[in-house]
Amino acid sequence: MLRLTDTRTRQQEEIRPEKGHRLRVYACGPTVYRFQHVGNLRTFLLGDLIVRVGETLHSWQVQLVQNITDVGHLADDTGIELSGEDKMLLAAREENKDPFEIARFYEAQFLEDCAALNIKPADVYPRASECIDLMLALIQTLLDKGHAYVGTDGSVYFDARSFPSYGAISGNRLEDLRPGHRQAAEELADGKRFHADWALWKYAGAQRQMVWDTPWGKGFPGWHIECSAMSLHHLGETFDVHTGGIDLRFPHHEDERAQSNSAVGHEVVRHWVHGEHLLAEGRKMAKSTGNVVLVRDVVDRGYDPLALRLFFLTGRYRQQMNLTWDALAGADRRLRRWRSKVAEWAESPSTAMCADYVQRLRDAFDDDLDTPTVLVTLSELEKDGDIPAGSKFETFAWIDRVLGLDLVRDVGRPHDVAADLPAGAAELLQRRAASRSAKDWAAADALREQLAGLGVTVNDGPDGQTWTLG
Ligand code: AMP
Ligand code: ZN
Repeated sequence: MLRLTDTRTRQQEEIRPEKGHRLRVYACGPTVYRFQHVGNLRTFLLGDLIVRVGETLHSWQVQLVQNITDVGHLADDTGIELSGEDKMLLAAREENKDPFEIARFYEAQFLEDCAALNIKPADVYPRASECIDLMLALIQTLLDKGHAYVGTDGSVYFDARSFPSYGAISGNRLEDLRPGHRQAAEELADGKRFHADWALWKYAGAQRQMVWDTPWGKGFPGWHIECSAMSLHHLGETFDVHTGGIDLRFPHHEDERAQSNSAVGHEVVRHWVHGEHLLAEGRKMAKSTGNVVLVRDVVDRGYDPLALRLFFLTGRYRQQMNLTWDALAGADRRLRRWRSKVAEWAESPSTAMCADYVQRLRDAFDDDLDTPTVLVTLSELEKDGDIPAGSKFETFAWIDRVLGLDLVRDVGRPHDVAADLPAGAAELLQRRAASRSAKDWAAADALREQLAGLGVTVNDGPDGQTWTLG
């Protein structure tokens, strides 16, 4: 039985699809005004792991919906919707392009980055700009049910005090939310009745692009209403799992829950699951902090992008992780070693998987996605002298359907030894061979140490130097 930590109940919960074998998952998607950094991708990997564990280990049919925010995410990320500018429009102005052109470009990049990390595509990627009618219908329902009201300028606000369990996900209770002074002055001016109310629909000034006509005037959607409208439409009035990064707990998910539950009259999301942040240099990876790493930076340094995926798996999704190039180099070495071992084991006759290891791997995944234990178990299996090579091959190939590391990539291929080497090692080996020919033993020794640091062990024999990994 799969158990995941549910942010709302604050404990591990058993995940049983409400509808037989169909698990319905909604994953908050990207805001497509910039490249996704690898921290964003870590959060998308959480959704992918739930999908893969569901499909492979539980034989569920998983339906995954992930939204593309191409309008309506304001630049002020504190969660307090100021009259701030839309991130899309800011990017459009900076890049001197049409906002939709920007959105399509970064959406395509996002899909490419996900593919590079073997994050399986969602069943549907609804775009906010193409779901305006759904949002308007939902806003109308909230107005009809008395959960929303129209402000003086044609913006529509959700009445936070009409939803008594506000704060259940994040613990931020309405009575504790105090307005900042900037907010108090700006927001309540538009006919907003309470500082914690938020805009479902925002009135647009004359200058703004990306606006739509509504019964209340020209405007554009708030960010939170997008996820309510899309999830209710694509997954129905109850669905199993909702994922996102931990920063989305408040206000995004709190507001989404208030909107969705108020519209249908019951709890919509059965389990809220949040991934902790990826840090770099000890701080949350974010464009505003200036510490972002992109997939292409990883590739430019000569690493396999799946080394990043393996690095993420060395931590648990609900723990922060700090990305370092050393850690990535280590993951890259392990990835290459495992691929070459799997290719080697594949040459032995196939033997049934070892039931004990299979059970331990299943249990670790089911235990709130304990991927560190999965990796330790695989390292143990790798070295276990009692297990036949053919059985190791079958077990690694099977569990890779969840790990998504392309561990069988080299099976049956002519063995290109140089491809197994970590980045930079081939050049060091060449230099060392040259030092030996020149009888520069000190340089050769120094290079041997450098290579050892990369996980390459060099041996000198009568036919020159040879090397092994690990
Ligand atoms: P955005 O494109 O800003 O809407 O973010 C997309 C997803 O990435 C959201 O689920 C965020 O919570 C998540 N996210 C943002 N920064 C990080 C980070 N440093 N580590 C992990 N997830 C993040
Ligand atoms: Zn969302």
